[in-house]
Amino acid sequence: AVRLLWFRRDLRLADNPALHAAAGTGAPGTGDHGGGPVLPVFVVDPVLWEPAGPARRAYLARSLRALDEALRGQGSGGLVVRYGDPSTELPRLAAEARAEQVHAAADFGPYGRTRDDSVQRALGEVPFVRTGSPYAVAPGRVTKGDGTPYRVFTPFLRAWTDHGWRDPLPVPEGVAWASASSGGLPEEPDSGVPQLPPAGAEAAYDHWAAFRDNGLADYAQLRDRADLPGSSRLSVHLKFGEIHPRTILAETDGPAAGAAKFRSELAWREFYADVLWHRPESGRDYLDTRFKTMPYDQGADAEEEFDAWREGRTGYPFVDAGMRQLLAEGWMHNRVRMVVASFLVKDLHQEWTRGARHFMHRLADGDFASNSHGWQWVAGCGTDAAPYFRVFNPVTQSRKFDPDGDYVRKYVPELRGIPGAAVHEPWKLKDGLPTGYPERIVDHAEEREVALARYSAMREGS
Ligand code: FAD
Repeated sequence: AVRLLWFRRDLRLADNPALHAAAGTGAPGTGDHGGGPVLPVFVVDPVLWEPAGPARRAYLARSLRALDEALRGQGSGGLVVRYGDPSTELPRLAAEARAEQVHAAADFGPYGRTRDDSVQRALGEVPFVRTGSPYAVAPGRVTKGDGTPYRVFTPFLRAWTDHGWRDPLPVPEGVAWASASSGGLPEEPDSGVPQLPPAGAEAAYDHWAAFRDNGLADYAQLRDRADLPGSSRLSVHLKFGEIHPRTILAETDGPAAGAAKFRSELAWREFYADVLWHRPESGRDYLDTRFKTMPYDQGADAEEEFDAWREGRTGYPFVDAGMRQLLAEGWMHNRVRMVVASFLVKDLHQEWTRGARHFMHRLADGDFASNSHGWQWVAGCGTDAAPYFRVFNPVTQSRKFDPDGDYVRKYVPELRGIPGAAVHEPWKLKDGLPTGYPERIVDHAEEREVALARYSAMREGS
């Protein structure tokens, strides 16, 4: 009898343990569930689709198209797409197809867990089998000797490495596919879509292979440089599971500095997922609850400043370049993410949750765990938090990580006429600011003092 294979954030056929489990290939670690024709399905859930924002929706639409083609290439009738609440749509499809099992990779996010529980209930007698996850080591698996979770990254990294992971699985051969009526692939949103990289598992693997061969060796030295293509830009492919971290880790073996640094960055993604699994409320709420008492700016001026930040009009070139890169590409360099987040929290004194929501709306790689915890790290209330009193200076940061100003000039056309590093402080130009580029909306040195004073007051109050 038919088995549904429900794709969520694992839009690939290679190294897909749930596909092996559904097809009953007997591959290691995929259980013995028998076997049967596989009916591949994706449910467009309005709860996730509506708030995803144009970049993530467009990317997902493209990635689903690529998955559909890959399935057809394997002899399937294509991806069945249904629209609505999964706990209504899946039981309906299971009944239509007379499916005996539903298979998926496990989801560890707070919404995914609740949704999966209600899908399981709604399926009644039909088992909902979860095999594999979007991580090399599933959240919750790496614990201290006493069974409690790690709260700091470095010991987590050690234990995660020691835990290890299995080898990647191939695309199974000779799978029998079932088909059903489909609501059709979702349309890409027609406005506000940034320039996005090619989507799909094939593009993801090609992209990884090119980085592995040309970028990995220098990754440790160059990853922080905003002006150079020093990082992998794999985040959107990992977000949608077009490539599994296991595949990457299997090809990133060895002690070389670039490979080691890259593995540890992948481990940050796993660490944040683990933290969110243990503390699901930390996706929206302060991990360090003392910070709840911190006063934040509100009112008309704060709204104007937020708009200036969002649109890249703060008068600080590095911040503006980052915010405009986000709008143009649905991606921002990690170093710049830290600087713009610090600017919102510590120069504009606004809550990290507000910035995190904007990022989630704009990022193609928007990932609830990495985003919320990246923001909390910068705001000083997260795991391993940068101490609150370390306030990023947007000018020093730009001089260091965009030494000749190429990154700023790429994203801020008003500043293109300014050569070299002078672009980082256009207010010092003897001819004044170039036409169209704004004055600084705040004075960094002053706002730093304000942030520190509020921080001291909060600590004394707690
Ligand atoms: P690389 O440097 O090539 O790293 C390889 C992979 O490791 C990344 O693709 C990513 O999967 C993982 N990784 C690297 N750094 C981190 C990190 N600090 N935390 C978690 N995973 C990491 N990453 C997201 O994937 N989605 C988000 O929504 C997100 N929001 C962030 C918000 C803030 C405020 C900050 C400071 C960081 C955020 N990050 C997020 C982490 C990081 O900025 C991106 O993963 C990285 O910039 C992606 O580019 P890359 O693929 O070239 O990274």
